[in-house]
Amino acid sequence: MHLSARARAIRPSVTIAIDSRAKELRAAGEHVINLSAGEPDFPTPDFIKQAGIAAIEQDFTRYTPAAGIRELREAIAAKHEADNGVHYDWDEIVVSGGGKHALFNTFMAICDPGDQVIIPAPYWVSYPEMVQLAGGEPVIVETTEETGFKLTADQLRAVIGPRTRAVVINSPNNPTGAVYSREELDALAGVCADAGLWMVTDELYEHLIYEGEHVSIAALRPEYRERTVLINGVSKAFAMTGWRIGWSASPRPLAKAIAAIQSQATSAVNSIAQKAALAALTGPRDAVTAMREEYRRRRDLLVEGLNRLPGIRCPRPGGAFYVFCSVAGVLGRQLGGRRVEDDVALAEVLLEEARIAVVPGTAFGAPGYLRFSYATSPDDLREALARLERLLA
Ligand code: GLU
Repeated sequence: MHLSARARAIRPSVTIAIDSRAKELRAAGEHVINLSAGEPDFPTPDFIKQAGIAAIEQDFTRYTPAAGIRELREAIAAKHEADNGVHYDWDEIVVSGGGKHALFNTFMAICDPGDQVIIPAPYWVSYPEMVQLAGGEPVIVETTEETGFKLTADQLRAVIGPRTRAVVINSPNNPTGAVYSREELDALAGVCADAGLWMVTDELYEHLIYEGEHVSIAALRPEYRERTVLINGVSKAFAMTGWRIGWSASPRPLAKAIAAIQSQATSAVNSIAQKAALAALTGPRDAVTAMREEYRRRRDLLVEGLNRLPGIRCPRPGGAFYVFCSVAGVLGRQLGGRRVEDDVALAEVLLEEARIAVVPGTAFGAPGYLRFSYATSPDDLREALARLERLLA
């Protein structure tokens, strides 16, 4: 059977694969603690669900403009003005099927074959694959715990070459939870501006910050805004993963190209979900604040619990809902009847022997680590810690 080189090269998303496996085991009656995909366990707030129901009842069920309904794009522009201090006209916003789709469209719009996109590791699993699908070449730059897993301006400067087109900056970061400061972002943006690069800023976890503040690069200087593709969405902050609404905000010529790509790929995103997202962005934020405070408690519970276990070292992250811990002290041990050589094997043993689903650091370009999502109930977190303790004893 003929498959394209592209199809042969693509690897399926590890986060999605592990999450699906955990959900399958659960459906089969196994008590799996699923700390794999980053997915809020909270229901979508009621007023948002009601807006979706009203959209169906009012027959708002037809195609919308490819880039999304104008009211939603205006609400997104207003959100960026109010929350982030950066101005976008409504037609510079393109609503897509989640932040993931907005990123995919972006790489399709900015990469020519052979163009390089700099991606700091640990990175979210999908960036390198998306760049490759778009014909580009991911250039991975490793960051370490010593710099809080943050890319420095010197590291960035050192890897820029004649084919570099863009850099991906993700703060708060998935998988590490690192939050870049204003000064750190300004330094990175200065390097990008000098080199004429696009900055693709993934800000999906903006509302989930426990230490530090969220800063949008596009807001720092007018010339940065002209080089930034700002990606955001409602999935994480409003517990709306399944509605699939995200967006890109970018200078008008790029926004037009992104909208054209999307119009050929999907026509537009789901009309009902657009109305629900409009309610989310224009409604009260109490639910967001309450969820954030709950995530903070869970983070503390998980970080403290993991750091008590032998061989595990877990820094306390400033944002998102993941901890990224070193398991170097566990590797090489005999666990569940087998020698655990690496983080991938350890994640397998955790799922098979302890029914805990986590994502190995290798999936994020950082072997020797595991990512635990704490977007799950404190009872599940405590149970996971108890199971881990028994396994590692
Ligand atoms: N973004 C979440 C994660 O990293 C959801 C799964 C995915 O799309 O990768 O787990």
